[in-house]
Amino acid sequence: MSAERTGQKTSDDGKFITYEFKQSILCPSYLIALAVGALEKREIGPRSYVWSEKETVAAGEFEFTETEKFIQACEELCGPYVWGRYDVLLMPPSFPYGGMENPCLTFVTPTIIAGDRSLTSVVCHEIAHSWMGNLITCQTWEDFWLNEGFCVFVERKALRKLFGEQFAHLQGWTPAGRFLIFALFVFSFSFFVFIGFDMSGKSA
Ligand SMILES: [Zn+2]
Repeated sequence: MSAERTGQKTSDDGKFITYEFKQSILCPSYLIALAVGALEKREIGPRSYVWSEKETVAAGEFEFTETEKFIQACEELCGPYVWGRYDVLLMPPSFPYGGMENPCLTFVTPTIIAGDRSLTSVVCHEIAHSWMGNLITCQTWEDFWLNEGFCVFVERKALRKLFGEQFAHLQGWTPAGRFLIFALFVFSFSFFVFIGFDMSGKSA
């Protein structure tokens, strides 16, 4: 669930269990997610589990051990991670996206399980959405590119911080390109804050 689990109760006849969750941070409705299945979990960090069906949970545990490093790199750039838990749910192969940034519980495609952690930048991207898209978000679907644009900006800065300059070049971030992107970032952020975005849900 895209929220913190706060408890569970069993009915008097023992037939039903009620699971309780709480999301105390305001977030847009498109981020509400519920996962149901025969799921197992493994700890991959001090605030993170990977969830999956039992056949794939060990592979997920190996693949996503860098999750805490990604969170910390993004925190250095954007401030504290405010959502409490950050868990990853490994979806069935029919999941049609790379990842989905639901608060507290990212959904990811199993196609990033490469066995060598070479495709886990997707997780860094979804973590970056914890600020860019989830804490501040677009007012209309027309503006959704802003969520993704700012998220990629943070993701790439975090990956550069973790894996160095050569990795940044691999992603096409030459110094000149970085300057242009930074200029675009500053320009767009003004639009993001003052025109296109509204935390309260009222018209901007
Ligand atoms: Zn994204």
